[in-house]
Amino acid sequence: MQELTHFINGERVSGGSGRFADVFNPATGEVQAKVPLATTEEVNEAVAKAAEAQVAWGATNPQRRARVMMAFGQLINENMDMLAESVSREHGKTLPDGRGDVQRGLEVIEVCMGAPTLLKGEFTTDGGPGIDLYSMRQPLGVVAGITPFNFPAMIPLWKMGPALSCGNAMVLKPSERCPSTSILLAELLKEAGLPDGVLQVVNGDKEAVDAILDNETIQAVGFVGSTPIAQYIYGRAASNGKRAQCFGGAKNHMIVMPDADMDKAADALVGSSMGAAGERCMAISVAVPVGDKTADALVERIVPRLEKLKVGPYTAGDDIDYGPLITKASQTRVKGLIDSGIEQGATMLMDGREFSLQGYEDGFFVGPTYFDNVTPDMDIYKEEIFGPVLSQVRTQSYEEALKLTMDNEYGNGTSIFTADGDTARDFANRVNVGMVGINFPIPVPLSYHTFGGWKKSAFGDLNQYGPDAFRFYTKTKTVTERWFSGIKEGGEFAFKAMD
Ligand code: NAD
Repeated sequence: MQELTHFINGERVSGGSGRFADVFNPATGEVQAKVPLATTEEVNEAVAKAAEAQVAWGATNPQRRARVMMAFGQLINENMDMLAESVSREHGKTLPDGRGDVQRGLEVIEVCMGAPTLLKGEFTTDGGPGIDLYSMRQPLGVVAGITPFNFPAMIPLWKMGPALSCGNAMVLKPSERCPSTSILLAELLKEAGLPDGVLQVVNGDKEAVDAILDNETIQAVGFVGSTPIAQYIYGRAASNGKRAQCFGGAKNHMIVMPDADMDKAADALVGSSMGAAGERCMAISVAVPVGDKTADALVERIVPRLEKLKVGPYTAGDDIDYGPLITKASQTRVKGLIDSGIEQGATMLMDGREFSLQGYEDGFFVGPTYFDNVTPDMDIYKEEIFGPVLSQVRTQSYEEALKLTMDNEYGNGTSIFTADGDTARDFANRVNVGMVGINFPIPVPLSYHTFGGWKKSAFGDLNQYGPDAFRFYTKTKTVTERWFSGIKEGGEFAFKAMD
């Protein structure tokens, strides 16, 4: 049995707690590795070493730090297949999805190569007689990243790229279900020139997270995961005086107007609800057709598309559409929610509960599942399912569809499919959701914009990556200075003649 490690002071380090978590092969159900779960003392030691390493790293000029990001980006590119395989091996997503996971993280590293520009300050000359003002962005010190299982490369890269290029040291606690990719990324960063100790990867569970939240040296916490944990981490970090941004779960709606291209809308709904087995915070899990004719047109197109999907292990090749769920518990929970949909009166159009694959009978698979006539009081509507389940809620007008989307407690992403610019524009302006797609099902903004939801999908301030991340990981200092040689007696302002 492979025993995984932490990555501390530039080296793989065995865990000292004697506590481990199982890392599964989700396609077979077998345990493939054990990951050590750090104690409070192990976290505190890693933080103390990070604080020592941060002093020199914070004083390194931004251009040199950016060069480390450039070398890192190149190494990620060169090792794309190895990293993607590591993602798929523990997560179970297809290899093209694994590559996408690495690629979307790499794009944030590419933005970090421009850190000197993003960190430039502001200057006011002659704010008063002989007075100039300037603002600078300084690193916070040691910051922490706590990340979920579903993007084992992308989200750690979203955290480490901006935090490190701003001159901070980071303690990263990846998901204990997919821990290996973060260690591989940390090794590539070392090879790219990052000094030892500036990035510490500490594996663990609640004990390690609580140690991070209570550690007085840590100045800021960037969290991504489920809503209840996001809310807990935000509260505890804030009450300990830390800056915190905590991104949570989602229930993303896609409105389909009667004038939409129905084939494209059906393709978009299938891809965005089933891709990565629905384990994406930007997955569309609720289809909201306007009018029964639209709903019927979608049913007619979606069912045959779902029937054609290939579900299997990532090792079966690139034509697999999606893989297993992350754990047995997750599979059991998703199947239980499907049961509840039937019991609570939704119309079952496709049932994935009995899906089984020869040779992989113990894998955590769930087949494509599609419900029609779902209502907002049903559990399959209220809960974030995080599985390959599409719920269709019929509405009779655009206003009803908009209200449904806006009344939902989550606000991560949403989408509208329509041929009408006025409707699209109205939707984009009025909807209370952080990321909006127009004829676009998964509107993850490009890396030089920013990523963040509203309502219960995010707690705290500022978004992930892009310019917001450079604000989150720095504090502003403003200097007001006066040089008396520029002031004549009596306060009148004068320039000195130049020789
Ligand atoms: P999770 O909340 O279970 O775990 C996230 C992190 O929190 C992990 O590192 C885990 O070890 C830690 N953790 C778990 N329980 C804890 C506890 N009781 N106390 C302290 N720490 C704890 O989330 P997950 O299952 O790994 O990821 C899936 C969730 O993440 C979904 O809800 C998904 O929507 C969300 N997500 C959100 C975004 C976003 O940007 N909004 C992006 C990706 C995933």
